[in-house]
Amino acid sequence: MQYRLIALVFITILTAASAAHAAGGKVISRTGIAPDRYVYYPGTEALGKKEIRVTACGTGMPAARHNQAATCFLVEFGNGEKILFDIGTGSMANVAAYMIPYEFLDKIFLTHLHTDHMGDLDGLWAGGWTAGRPAGLKVWGPSGLHPELGTRAAIESFLKFVAWDKETRSFQISPLPGEIEVVEFDYRAVNKVVYEKDGVVIRSIPAIHTGDGPVSYIAEYEGMKVVIGGDTAPNKWFIKYGTNADLVIHEAFMVPGDFVELYNQPPQLAWRACCAFHTSGQAFGKMMSTITPKHGVAYHFLNEEATRYNLYQAIRETYDGPLSMAADNMVWNVTPDGVRERMAVITDDAWSVPGPNPQGPPQQKGLRPVFSDFSNSGYWQPAYKAQDKAMDKYMKKYKLEDQDWRPGMYKMMEGK
Ligand SMILES: [Zn+2]
Ligand SMILES: [Zn+2]
Repeated sequence: MQYRLIALVFITILTAASAAHAAGGKVISRTGIAPDRYVYYPGTEALGKKEIRVTACGTGMPAARHNQAATCFLVEFGNGEKILFDIGTGSMANVAAYMIPYEFLDKIFLTHLHTDHMGDLDGLWAGGWTAGRPAGLKVWGPSGLHPELGTRAAIESFLKFVAWDKETRSFQISPLPGEIEVVEFDYRAVNKVVYEKDGVVIRSIPAIHTGDGPVSYIAEYEGMKVVIGGDTAPNKWFIKYGTNADLVIHEAFMVPGDFVELYNQPPQLAWRACCAFHTSGQAFGKMMSTITPKHGVAYHFLNEEATRYNLYQAIRETYDGPLSMAADNMVWNVTPDGVRERMAVITDDAWSVPGPNPQGPPQQKGLRPVFSDFSNSGYWQPAYKAQDKAMDKYMKKYKLEDQDWRPGMYKMMEGK
């Protein structure tokens, strides 16, 4: 007991000391390590039971930029649950670099149906399918003012848009991973539970944006609370239900002049976009100083020195609490002890990572054929023969003798 107490005091002193040296910590040996690095290497840290890790997989705008994806937050809970909140255009390139098996990335909560919040659904859907995900996806999202403007209609239309992709992949790979299940809930739900499993509870509150439908989410787990705000003007529900939170993520739009000068918006649009149907820096600050989170996060601005500085100054007019100006691949570890912000160090060359369950073999029975005699008559056999030796070697290595597709295909090519 005595020993444990001493150890605890020692750890506390260590933590306090290292906090003063955030960028690397105090390095005491020429051959030693930097003990307290302001970086997170994805795939190297197990999550504690009482811990939530939030990663910004996208923080930008609808107009594509090479160095910043549109909105996406990956929330990983200590019980193993992983949920993507929005999956904006360009964000999958970041998500893929976190080296998480695709089978663990099967749940998506959409805040609303603007493309900068759902544009990379195709990347997750087809990318995970071709990279070994064994099962389908599940998408949660709000209804709309009219049925055709809700999440269910959006996903049904998406599956129509990708009809050729889905049918051909179903035939050639396996149909199950191409399925998308939709859970649509009322966008007017006020703090109602939309998901509850193994200690993770997610509630929805309405947001006010460019029209009815958008929502924000409140995730609770092990006594911790993370609020994920979608696009919204300052609203009463956020003020009422966003309180007592550990981490509050809320949009904060660039100052209108930057939208005019850097984003090419006409002035009459810029001041409505930033400050009527989105949230300005000053308005964001006013909200944060009202709900006083342990840590606030501003996102949804084009992130570069000048814009970040101008927005930061605007926020600081009304809020002096803990704040992150979010960038892509910024990470927050939330524990009952507090929130720790770091940057993820990712590689441009990450491959997909295998999970515990391999994808099953193709199940073509019952599916509509995807070839006609016309295409079947067009194969040029000499090129196929040229790869035969390599195919034989591959077949042996992976013991695929019972799945050799060549005899049937060659018969067809030879008109037998
Ligand atoms: Zn929007
Ligand atoms: Zn947006």
